[in-house]
Amino acid sequence: MYSIYDFSKEKLENFFLENNEKKFKATQIYEWLYKKRVGSFDEMTNVSKNTIGLLKENFSLKKLKLITSQSDIDVDKYLFGLDDGNKIEAVLMNHDYGYSLCISTEVGCNMGCLFCESGRLKKVRNLLPSEMVLQILQVEEMKNVRISHIVLMGIGEPFDNYDNVIEFVNIINDPKGIDIGARHITISTCGLIPKIKEFAKLDKQVNLAISLHAPNNEIRNRLMPINKVYKIEELIKTLKEYIDTTKRRVTFEYIMLDGINDSTECAKELAGLLKGMNAYVNLIPYNSTSNDSLFKKSSKETILSFYDTLKKNNINVTIRREFGSKVMAACGQLRANYEEEK
Ligand code: SAH
Repeated sequence: MYSIYDFSKEKLENFFLENNEKKFKATQIYEWLYKKRVGSFDEMTNVSKNTIGLLKENFSLKKLKLITSQSDIDVDKYLFGLDDGNKIEAVLMNHDYGYSLCISTEVGCNMGCLFCESGRLKKVRNLLPSEMVLQILQVEEMKNVRISHIVLMGIGEPFDNYDNVIEFVNIINDPKGIDIGARHITISTCGLIPKIKEFAKLDKQVNLAISLHAPNNEIRNRLMPINKVYKIEELIKTLKEYIDTTKRRVTFEYIMLDGINDSTECAKELAGLLKGMNAYVNLIPYNSTSNDSLFKKSSKETILSFYDTLKKNNINVTIRREFGSKVMAACGQLRANYEEEK
């Protein structure tokens, strides 16, 4: 049985047509699910008994199980249990522009970035669209807030679960549904080139963020195994084409790791690499993980000096606000810690 939250409106329309029902029913159902947020089919009072019966035969409305949550100033972390017992995380952040939710896209992750907690568990499976949609619905319900921004920066590599991620975007972007504007959705990838090319052709206004974290192959190879498959020059070339096709700006994420990628030389090299691109760099203070023997956070002064060098070289740059280092806001940490404490 499918979760009803797996279906985009278009897919639900097709379902109704195939079952000799009117297409507009999909819009009605969407409004009940996502505007009125009902938890059962029987509450859909303007839908005929027959249609309710058809829905009950084919779809479930099952939610995720909340296992635990932690809060800090302006940040809440949630650990959810899936039907098969796997666990995923979502992080809610309260920004001055509204609430943003960082959601997971996979159980585990195969990318193996050295500084990242998520990769400690290899990928077990892709998340279904419903399992991503429910992270939003349930956090909104628990916190009693409206989430305005979605970032796909939790556990998993979104482009290694491409089809489900795009279906998820279609669902939450639908004006009759949760209606989160495409420009308020950001997909973050470590740089799976074939998928970036496919994504460029989609013609969506969704933001693309690239986890770059190094200005050259030598450093990037050491931090991110994916760079051995897709070299940095190829990645930048692909992104230039992406910008040409979509006319959209690309964000580069750059974790500041003490003594590894944070020198002035690195900043200059990065500026050279990104010169002339419609892009901006987001400098991310490293969040402490179980790999602290390998990495330390760059000092404030180093981060500021790196920032200045980029600015002087005409690169748009921001420093990411740190959220909840007390509650371990880096992706994968709540789950990792929960498993250890058990
Ligand atoms: N796989 C995707 C999305 C998940 S990671 C990607 O690679 O982009 C989301 C972001 O968090 C990435 O930029 C990732 O590099 C960063 N990140 C991972 N571990 C971190 C840590 N310990 N401290 C700070 N940022 C981290």
